[in-house]
Amino acid sequence: MEKRVYNFSPGPAVLPLPAMEEAQRDLLALPGTGISILEISHRSKKFEQILAQCESNLRTLLGIPDNYRILFLQGGAMLQFAMLPMSFLRNTGKPADYIVSGTWSKKAVDEAKTQGTVQIAYDGKAGNYNRVPKQSELKLDPNAAYAYMTSNETIQGVQFTDEPDVGNVPLICDSSSDFLSRPIPVSKYAMIFACAQKNAGPSGVTLVIVRDDMLAKAPKDLPSMLNYPVLAENKSLLNTPPTFSIYMVKLVTDWLLRDIGGLDKMYEINRRKSKMLYDAVDGSGGFYLPHAEPASRSIMNVPFKLADTALEEPFNKEAAAVGLVELKGHRSVGGCRASIYNAMPEAGVKALRDFMLDFAKKHAK
Ligand SMILES: *Cc1c(COP(=O)(O)O)cnc(C)c1O
Repeated sequence: MEKRVYNFSPGPAVLPLPAMEEAQRDLLALPGTGISILEISHRSKKFEQILAQCESNLRTLLGIPDNYRILFLQGGAMLQFAMLPMSFLRNTGKPADYIVSGTWSKKAVDEAKTQGTVQIAYDGKAGNYNRVPKQSELKLDPNAAYAYMTSNETIQGVQFTDEPDVGNVPLICDSSSDFLSRPIPVSKYAMIFACAQKNAGPSGVTLVIVRDDMLAKAPKDLPSMLNYPVLAENKSLLNTPPTFSIYMVKLVTDWLLRDIGGLDKMYEINRRKSKMLYDAVDGSGGFYLPHAEPASRSIMNVPFKLADTALEEPFNKEAAAVGLVELKGHRSVGGCRASIYNAMPEAGVKALRDFMLDFAKKHAK
């Protein structure tokens, strides 16, 4: 078999080896069926069990209260950028408040504007999105239809540590790139969504956790594939769901419960991993420059620059040569970015940290 390297891609991203090994072992025939997960009917007993177990794992891991539905949808996080204002902004006569902490929240604003009035509660553009806002900086409207945030900005590597206080306005969160990375108080949110391919599984499925009172508010006249209540009533089986992706999310959440021991443990590991890299950047005497301010730093995506930009290409090349790949930063931020999702082993982060220290020493002036 081809040797595996450490993959720091922002997404689709590294998956837990035990989950992939289980999928590989059972690929040709799921235990008790003799049929592959790639061939099985979404209406079969076996698939229903997989879906139910996946949902139950998510409820256990996140402590999701009973008055929330979990939907398994297609169209990625980007479709949620549109579905959500179609359902909760359009024709309400109210504006929606958007906290713009980076590229993904900006994209969500652009989509929401096609459906109604968007108010910018905060925009971090002036600082090139290098931090999340303080509560005192938020311009919130108590009459807003909802308030919107991105818990972790994948490109800029800035992450909220707590939920902003939005009063009685429903809080909606794009949690695509930090979903399942730490415990969260689900009951503070009206809706949380996350595409799977950053931290929860492969691409193809998007998880939506939505409170019942929001579903009750949604308009009834949207086409069914865009209609949250209809999708919820049909338990994500309105049409053929992404069966393989859901199966993989089940295996990944099995791994979180069985091998990691839950989200408190995962959070502890993620903090330890990210600290290793931030310490390397901060201790480099200016050789590496962080993008995000310390209090806003993401435990999932660590963007940094090399002070001497001419060294960026050799950095990426030499890193790849020792099995540390996909470290190029997003063009809007430049430099490098190490995405260290749940499934990136501590040994991979340590290997990157050691490489960074060696590289800096070799090129020190
Ligand atoms: C990747 C990402 C998205 C886009 O997800 P798609 O599934 O490609 O639509 C949205 N928001 C955040 C925070 C992301 O990291």
